[in-house]
Amino acid sequence: MAVLIARDDPLDTYLVHHPEILRHPVEATVLDPDNPYVLAPHLCAAAAELPLTEADLALFGAGAAVVAEDLCRRSLLRRRPSGWYWTRRARAARMTSLRGTGAEPVKIVEETTGRLVGTVDEPSAHVLAHDGATYLHQGDTYLVSTLDLADGVALVGLGDPGYVTSARQVTKIEVIGQQRQMRWDEAQVCFGDVQVTRQVTSFVRRRADTGRPLGEVPLDLPPRTLRTRAMWWTVSAAQAAWLAGSGVDLPGAAHAAEHASIGLLPLFATCDRWDIGGVSTDLHPATGRLTVFVYDGHEGGAGFAERGFDAAAAWLAATRQAIASCECEAGCPSCIQSPKCGNGNMPLSKSGALALLDTVLAASGPRAAGPGEKGAALAGGESEGRRTVRPWGGGAEPASSKAYLESGPRTHFRTSKDLPQ
Ligand SMILES: [Zn+2]
Ligand SMILES: [Zn+2]
Repeated sequence: MAVLIARDDPLDTYLVHHPEILRHPVEATVLDPDNPYVLAPHLCAAAAELPLTEADLALFGAGAAVVAEDLCRRSLLRRRPSGWYWTRRARAARMTSLRGTGAEPVKIVEETTGRLVGTVDEPSAHVLAHDGATYLHQGDTYLVSTLDLADGVALVGLGDPGYVTSARQVTKIEVIGQQRQMRWDEAQVCFGDVQVTRQVTSFVRRRADTGRPLGEVPLDLPPRTLRTRAMWWTVSAAQAAWLAGSGVDLPGAAHAAEHASIGLLPLFATCDRWDIGGVSTDLHPATGRLTVFVYDGHEGGAGFAERGFDAAAAWLAATRQAIASCECEAGCPSCIQSPKCGNGNMPLSKSGALALLDTVLAASGPRAAGPGEKGAALAGGESEGRRTVRPWGGGAEPASSKAYLESGPRTHFRTSKDLPQ
């Protein structure tokens, strides 16, 4: 017997209301082996075991030759007539961290004793181990006195100050290049390369027992940029105006829909909500429209956002269902609140998110689905049918929704398993 103990999050809420989904092979393994950030260390590790030949290279995908050339330029591999050789004494396998990718982790060190309490990856250190943060480790509370990013050390002292801290951060996202797009009537769903800039700007102290805020403290931490991939969806100005006219708080609606959709993406891509990030705005400069972005939290992308694009109709329909079936009045951690929100879960609008998602999904029927996508099947028997009226009375586009897909030059790797029908 297996027992699922549901937690206060949108994914578990959805599963509790749709237990039938557990009978299906849900898991679709998402992996982007062409991501040079993933491929390069693997090529090095392979070359360190046995020199790589042309024939070997073909096994690593179409992009492997380019990445191998780049590794030669960086003097990590050397090309000889018999193949590519690893040039270093260090073990190539150590280039791949089991704790995410990127820079060396930051050490959490007890100031008085020099004892190593734990480690945290560099981006998380900004959020969890900044100056003045309370840091929890194995049931003990520590207070961070100094975060030294140059040395990769956070100095802490044992002791519970009676409050907890949460970091506030601002996130900006720029579209570098759009690769794919679908139209659902006036709504659009896109996928492409983005640059995300995040900066922790302050933290808030709250009493540990009551949660009462004790004030905000500014921080001076450098911004971090991430080149990654995102899927984003937008509604037209006419749709946004219609929603606003019916009393929808657009920023709150977009933010709530973003949170809930991030909570639900693990249902469609093998990821954790901590692997993905989101940005929502009622007007984004890149699109000129209300836009919700969901991006891979790994350098170069990890395939989750693309999986979200492929499953967009089913995923956003499941998101709508998870919000609608939550019994709370105005939003709770089971639906639209997020434990990792950089804005302290403000603003959020539960009813607005439902109206916004209804607008986006109105023309997302199975015919608008992309390849490998099973339409809004997850909405199951509760589907309300496709809406044919367009209350936002939009522009000159034909009433029959016509989807088109532009495939990028990349090849896509998928397992044979797909979403439950
Ligand atoms: Zn709720
Ligand atoms: Zn948020």
